[in-house]
Amino acid sequence: MSPPQESAAPAGTAFSTTSSQAEEYTIVQTAPRKKTKQVAVLDEDGPLIDTTEALAKNSKKLARLQKKQQKKQAKSSFKVHNFLDLPAELLQEILGHLRPSDVRRVAQLNTATRDFIQQNETSIAKDIIERRYWVLRRCFPLPLAFEDVEEPSRAALLNPRWQERTGINKKPYSHIKALDAQDVCSCPSCLLAWNNLNVVLDFEHFQWNLDHREPIPMIPRGSNPEWNRELTESHARTVEKAMGSPLCYAAILEMHLNSILGTLLRQARFPPKVPIHRHNKPTAAAPAKTAHPIRLYQVTEKDASTEEDSFLERDGRPSYEMPFHRDNYYNLLAYVPNRKWSREEQRWVYYAAGAHERDLAWVRDRFMPVTLPAAYVPEGSHEEFAAKSQAAMATESR
Ligand SMILES: [Zn+2]
Repeated sequence: MSPPQESAAPAGTAFSTTSSQAEEYTIVQTAPRKKTKQVAVLDEDGPLIDTTEALAKNSKKLARLQKKQQKKQAKSSFKVHNFLDLPAELLQEILGHLRPSDVRRVAQLNTATRDFIQQNETSIAKDIIERRYWVLRRCFPLPLAFEDVEEPSRAALLNPRWQERTGINKKPYSHIKALDAQDVCSCPSCLLAWNNLNVVLDFEHFQWNLDHREPIPMIPRGSNPEWNRELTESHARTVEKAMGSPLCYAAILEMHLNSILGTLLRQARFPPKVPIHRHNKPTAAAPAKTAHPIRLYQVTEKDASTEEDSFLERDGRPSYEMPFHRDNYYNLLAYVPNRKWSREEQRWVYYAAGAHERDLAWVRDRFMPVTLPAAYVPEGSHEEFAAKSQAAMATESR
């Protein structure tokens, strides 16, 4: 081992030794002396005390920094104690990014939050729907409330001849509560809109059965058990509520998006169980063709994670027929009605907008009663209204 090299000390530093040999060193100044901390050695074994004076802080830059810091501290003293302390525009923006089901949960926080959401429901729901359910909104329009239909058309809609014809669209469905013509517009497009939204809720109700390959209870033809009556009535109440509550409507669209994703990704999320051989030996894995070889709209779990319906804009299969029976749910992949694929433009064309007005004019042209039943004249005298209606008819037939 080589002896410690005492000359290893850096040049220009004071150095003292405590060795018994007490050698003397000549310090050669080779470089300009740097300003070093003055360390007073009071006691060689005691602690070192820093006696360096603090530098005078007196620069413009420092003054600026101090001013900035003071400002920052003043700002941070304004604290948000409550969710509702945020500016209204910011609150609305935040809520517009949530799922409808989340907004419903937030509304349960307290009365003030619920009131804020109720007061701003239309704009919050509009933001959510435009952001997340751009496609579904066009495919599942809301039916109009009967009270929002103008007077001459009301009479035509309630014409017994028209109501008898609409019966074809109501009676055969055991999974949909028939529309009440006194509450909801019964023009062809509103009838379809009513049926579609009720089916969406019913289809969602049986997702658990479909995911777990449990049969959906079937109803014998001509009967309507209590559980089915309650279920369809509850769906009808929800649709009626959605007609007056944009957030409730958004919640229906959210449910349907979940049903579509659940159906398209079911094979991956709930793979069929490999049957066990009677001697407890697993049989061969199910052949690949039992899984859907082509996934509709090429949907992936990544698409599902966005919780938006933009994947439905890809080329896929049009839905021309409503699931008219719960039996149809087993094979239903994605029910997205009211649109067709344009080969020329390579995009979906949505055609539900404006259908209510066109259909209402059609019903008015054919079913306007000449004499109106007293029950349908809410204001003014019966004769006055009949005369008005006849005048309207005469204008139309010209
Ligand atoms: Zn209508």
